[in-house]
Amino acid sequence: MATGKIGVTTENIFPVIKKFLYSDHEIFLRELVSNAVDATQKLKTLSSFGEFKGELGEMQVKVSIDKEQGTLTVSDRGIGMDAEDIDKYINQIAFSGAEEFLKKYKDVANGIIGHFGLGFYSAFMVSKKVVIRSLSYKEGAKAVEWTCDGSPEYTLEETEKADRGTDIILYLDDDSKEFLEQARIDTLLKKYCRFLPVPVISGKEQEWKDGKMVDTDRDNVINATEPLWTRKPADLTDDDYLKFYHELMPGMEDPMFWIHLNVDYPFTLTGILYFPKIKSNLDVRKDRIQLYCNQVYVTDQVEGVVPEFMTLMQGVIDSPDIPLNVSRSYLQADSQVKKISSYIAKKVAEKLASMFKDDRKAYEQKWDDIKVFIEYGMLTDPKFCDQAMKFVLLKDVDGNYYTIEEYKKLTEAEQTDKDSNLIWLYANDPQEQYSYIQGAKDKGYSVLLMDGQLDPHFIGLLEQKVEKTRMVRVDSDIIDRLIVKADKKESGLTPAQTDILTTVFRSQIPEVKGAEFLVQFEALGENAAPATITQNEFMRRMKDMSAMQPGMNFYGEMPDSYALVINTDQAAVKKITDLATEALQERVAPLRADIETGNQAMSEARKQLSEKKDADQAEKDKLRQSISEAEKKVADARAEEEKLEKEYAATQPQVRQVIDLALLGAGLLKGEALSAFIKRSATLLG
Ligand code: ADP
Repeated sequence: MATGKIGVTTENIFPVIKKFLYSDHEIFLRELVSNAVDATQKLKTLSSFGEFKGELGEMQVKVSIDKEQGTLTVSDRGIGMDAEDIDKYINQIAFSGAEEFLKKYKDVANGIIGHFGLGFYSAFMVSKKVVIRSLSYKEGAKAVEWTCDGSPEYTLEETEKADRGTDIILYLDDDSKEFLEQARIDTLLKKYCRFLPVPVISGKEQEWKDGKMVDTDRDNVINATEPLWTRKPADLTDDDYLKFYHELMPGMEDPMFWIHLNVDYPFTLTGILYFPKIKSNLDVRKDRIQLYCNQVYVTDQVEGVVPEFMTLMQGVIDSPDIPLNVSRSYLQADSQVKKISSYIAKKVAEKLASMFKDDRKAYEQKWDDIKVFIEYGMLTDPKFCDQAMKFVLLKDVDGNYYTIEEYKKLTEAEQTDKDSNLIWLYANDPQEQYSYIQGAKDKGYSVLLMDGQLDPHFIGLLEQKVEKTRMVRVDSDIIDRLIVKADKKESGLTPAQTDILTTVFRSQIPEVKGAEFLVQFEALGENAAPATITQNEFMRRMKDMSAMQPGMNFYGEMPDSYALVINTDQAAVKKITDLATEALQERVAPLRADIETGNQAMSEARKQLSEKKDADQAEKDKLRQSISEAEKKVADARAEEEKLEKEYAATQPQVRQVIDLALLGAGLLKGEALSAFIKRSATLLG
């Protein structure tokens, strides 16, 4: 029997392992099973090269629990180790400055293990003693037993072992007894070893018998040794992909499509990414892509490895080229990872492009479901955005789909304004904006449907990407001003009429919660509506965005500002104008004159006051006095004028009727105001 000291540069590595790696202690099982699988694969390789001439026999890895002994054993029938191998691979930890390194990277210890030859030693995270019993495949090899109790001293002696391969026997610590539970072990194996290439057996299959689950005599195989992504796409059917998807993501609806990734240059990467139905709900879980390294599960935290927008996808990525031994921030900066990330994005773009090209109809049918994903990608990934410009679709309010190029052609003739900007109209609520949409259609314009969660942002992106194009919501202005083809016409009212009518109309606008109105007059032709409510595009966009982004409350808290645009060409408005002019013009004329003279007096006195800085106090006081007198005169005259106009307006149901029609068209007429409108309409009908 030999004894010796494990060759690490620090006095004792085990406290280090326990202390720093404790939080990830369950991964010891992954490490031991991976080693067993490696040993098995190596022997298979040697056999295929003729270097091993014996019988391979059954090549399984077995995980077994002995509750009485308090042991967990991982056994394989792989290449095994002789005394020399153990000395070389186990006793000399192929690592210098281990402690220092672990200190530095303790938060990513998970990744270090297995990549720095500490994999086997992770067994000491859960064990008070570890025994290796191994028989090498080499002809005439002698079986050996290595024992270590967690101190740097070990013993190594010859032993009897009938079968080729290695048993790693863990005498579990008292605080690690959970690993003696079959259910716990099976869960861990399912997590880490589900797709390992060698069958992993743990316990027995169970069946329902006499009212309880009992073991059968069939071995319970944990893994699928040939997961779908390792197979050739040409050999696989849609059913295969769907079946695999449901295994990976139990309880999900069928995915819409998938992409089988397969590269071997300049890096090795395989995988399958599924595209789930996400509708407009962006609140999806983002841990649905699993990362594997040669079929060993590594993590489902893939930020940095796949582009952000693709975390909406689900599936697996397997690459031995992703450096797993470093922290996430390092991962994101790693050039190899960046290449992988942009490769995946490119593949996804190619797939979408070919789906679009191969079967436009089917692509359109999927569009509503994939729209949010593509928009998200375009907003967050400039490269993807460029590629997607060819297959992103715009949908109009009638359900027709266009590419950007097609839509440009469609709208060019009718929707270019006098400054040769192409104006694209959109609606986000076709029910509420019905009359505006109708108005636009009557003009021969097209209206897009932009009701998606990301559309407020996407609209801005379109304006940037499509030159000389502006997006305008269909209700943001009256139809003639949405797309201005010629310089605008004057309202045709005199200043006095404008004054009178402004108060007449403004005084009759019912209270609408959270809204402010501005009254404007324009000559829009006798066939246009008497009045229209519009909402400023800029303000509205700001409010829409603030609803989605914290920190933009300023806009969110402002009232909605609308314009009430009165069409002075329309017959009813003309009549109102004529009647109001007749009833009020003469009566308000003296008041207007008072206001005029008052204003003049005021500005004259102010001017004098500012010129005569050195004048004596009495003179200054006099000037101040006359300013305040003039102010009062103006205010009184204003109030009187307004009173007259308001009183008059109250006697004119037609005014209220015109306003209410506009509010109704904008979906703003509700409750009491709505019922008043209905009553009034009946009366006006005579
Ligand atoms: P790594 O697997 O990263 O090389 P480990 O500490 O896990 O580091 O293992 C060190 C070495 O010990 C392995 O490279 C292998 O040569 C040997 N080894 C470990 N487990 C086994 C096993 N079950 N069968 C044969 N050799 C093994």
